Amino acid sequence: MIEREAFQVAEQDQMGAEMHRLMADLYPICRSLTGNGVRQTLHMLNDVIPLVIHEVPTGTTVFDWTVPQEWNIRDAYIKNSKGDRVVDFQKSNLHVMGYSVPVSETMSLAELLPRLYSLPEHPEWIPQRASYYKPNWGFSIAHNDLVRLAEDQYEVRIDSTLSNGAMTYGECVIPGEQADEILFSTHICHPSLCNDNLSGIVIAAYLAKAIAAMPKRRYTYRFLFVPAQLGSLAWLARNQEACGRIRHGVVLVALGDIGCSTYKCSRQETAEIDRAVTHVLRYSGQPYEIFKFVPYGYDERQYCSPGFNLPVGCFMRSTGARFPEYHTSADNLECVKPSSLADSYRKCMEICYVLEGNRVFRNLLPNGEPQLGKRGLYGAMGGLAGGGRGNELLLLWALNLSDGSHTLLDIAERSGLPFRQVRHAADLLLEHGLLEEVEGGQVGGSHL
Ligand code: ZN
Repeated sequence: MIEREAFQVAEQDQMGAEMHRLMADLYPICRSLTGNGVRQTLHMLNDVIPLVIHEVPTGTTVFDWTVPQEWNIRDAYIKNSKGDRVVDFQKSNLHVMGYSVPVSETMSLAELLPRLYSLPEHPEWIPQRASYYKPNWGFSIAHNDLVRLAEDQYEVRIDSTLSNGAMTYGECVIPGEQADEILFSTHICHPSLCNDNLSGIVIAAYLAKAIAAMPKRRYTYRFLFVPAQLGSLAWLARNQEACGRIRHGVVLVALGDIGCSTYKCSRQETAEIDRAVTHVLRYSGQPYEIFKFVPYGYDERQYCSPGFNLPVGCFMRSTGARFPEYHTSADNLECVKPSSLADSYRKCMEICYVLEGNRVFRNLLPNGEPQLGKRGLYGAMGGLAGGGRGNELLLLWALNLSDGSHTLLDIAERSGLPFRQVRHAADLLLEHGLLEEVEGGQVGGSHL
């Protein structure tokens, strides 16, 4: 198992600041479903963790989908007749609709207006738009700037290419004692947008770094950095054997805003991952929300499609309607707080701690209660919540339910006690020869 101390993340503020710095470095890159922005992002992440970079060629069939042509962009602008760039890709990559076909035209304001997208309800923000599967082009612009555009002849230029190439994704596998896997997946296809989803990217990278630095791991960990939807589909299509080894999975998204932690359950709804995350949030001492599965959202939609039905939930803070900056230029570096990143990271580590430590034990003296006093087990668990009697109760719960069929998480849930304390009690009983581990008693969740 992973030593519990290893999960007690020291200097959280520093960690949050470090992740925020990486986010600031990744922020200017123009990412999309495909293209050099994704490659550049993965190469930068490679400085944090070793990544295997995969290229899935244009035209590859991925279940019901086909990898489209690769999109790259160098520049784009709208110039007025004085030669001023009134919309400039160099200032924000959100100005250009993702996957815009190349354009070089001169047009009147009336001709241009149908190609401009703004948000009247947030007149200072630039909305993000993309058109991956239908050839199109357009510009996004702050509504305040749009209404200022005068009658004129505008030079419109998008210096982009759509050509046969590949869709790129990154993968980092950290072997454990077992082939059974914990999957963390995050999407990497958004341009300059921080909470959705540079927050997920930096947390996944730092999580992988911390997991790789652990002296021992029970599970094998797989981290995927994939373009949303098509990237996860491509991984599933190319790794059907590995899919069978995924015991627990989490999609990481929007983890840096000031909202409370939120978890969306897997399609299975009572999978061990669903229970582990719920438990961690319940004992976090902070507000949280748990949502049931819906077949809408992020890549959990693919992992939880009926053909796979993997136990993969989605860990986030605020998303969609609860996050007004979503898919706009306001989802910037200020929108993401280092303290929120650090908090989300710590909770991810705690989730791993629960999954790693969730074992099944058997009480070796099941007939009556063992005499704790003569083994020095009274008061042996100082510092735990509940005082003397509570500590004794912890040991009694661990002894009573360790009948070879309950996991420690079962015991924590049933006793209403935090997993860490139950695990600590079990370790103590193990040291005193009162419990033995039931090998393979937990993997596969057969007790559920
Ligand atoms: Zn998004």
